[in-house]
Amino acid sequence: TGLIVSFGEMLIDFVPTVSGVSLAEAPGFLKAPGGAPANVAIAVARLGGRAAFIGKLGDDEFGRMLAGILTQNDVSDSGVMFDQGARTALAFVTLRADGEREFMFYRNPSADMLLTPDELNFDLIRCANVFHYGSISLIVEPCRSAHLKAMEVAKDAGALLSYDPNLRLPLWPSAEEARKQIMSIWDKADVIKVSDEELEFLTGRIDDESAMSLWHDNLKLLLVTLGEKGCSYYTKNFHGEVPSYKVKTVDTTGAGDAFVGSLLLSIVDDYSIIEEEQGLKEVLKYACACGAITTTKKGAIPALPTRPQVLKLVHGSLSAWKDYILTLL
Ligand code: ATP
Repeated sequence: TGLIVSFGEMLIDFVPTVSGVSLAEAPGFLKAPGGAPANVAIAVARLGGRAAFIGKLGDDEFGRMLAGILTQNDVSDSGVMFDQGARTALAFVTLRADGEREFMFYRNPSADMLLTPDELNFDLIRCANVFHYGSISLIVEPCRSAHLKAMEVAKDAGALLSYDPNLRLPLWPSAEEARKQIMSIWDKADVIKVSDEELEFLTGRIDDESAMSLWHDNLKLLLVTLGEKGCSYYTKNFHGEVPSYKVKTVDTTGAGDAFVGSLLLSIVDDYSIIEEEQGLKEVLKYACACGAITTTKKGAIPALPTRPQVLKLVHGSLSAWKDYILTLL
């Protein structure tokens, strides 16, 4: 299969051992490796695809641990750099009473912010069939220039560009700046995924009209994820919704990244599948199943599904899936 290269931050979330308490009240914290672009790369590999991650880590124990997690999960680390001065990024996460996550970041600056254009592995970027990124890497220099350069090189080499803004408001100087910078690279992407909260942040509303106001001429597919409700899809010719699956949710971290990983793997070899509505709905069914499964376990990376798990959820049981395959032969 084709290669999916994901660019951006990889960090460690520190999650309280007890939920529903403030950071000050938390008796202890568990390390939860993450960073949306890294999660996407691991999601792809877990499903059997080829993935690489590009980003910078601190030359410290946490940085080496994160690089190890990439390779243990069969994600290429050939685009990973280590900074000799700055530390690996950390974030302390609390679950608010309304179920939303709140982040407190330690980035002053952290290694991920210090990736320079010169440090990019251009050979790797030119091999990408899909190049995926978020918006956190746009916040400060020199990482911002590295991000823009990598996008340009990937596009020139013929990659499909995939964008999941992954808004983290506390990292931006202001909401206005976040909106401006997130939109500054909007029209470069071929595929864009936003959550319903991000749609509201960008347009002020959550409905078909507001989603369609985000359309741009070169876009092939726009997705809005709706948590347990599934997702909405928009293309030049049609739009609709795909429901998710009922599961026992314990922690939604990484659901969006699993969704994106599955989607990108489905389209990496032939994205003409998304031009036809039935084909796209089938692709999104699997993406929703991946998101749903990811919510059934604590943490993002440990919860990302394998292909048999997804097939089981979509087709009821593995044997039902085998029967389904036989009908196709
Ligand atoms: P993230 O928390 O990773 O930032 P997100 O907000 O980008 O996630 P979500 O909408 O939470 O994305 O989830 C992505 C997809 O995962 C949804 O479109 C849905 O298909 C599936 N999903 C998420 N939460 C649930 C749930 N509680 N039950 C079933 N499916 C879910």
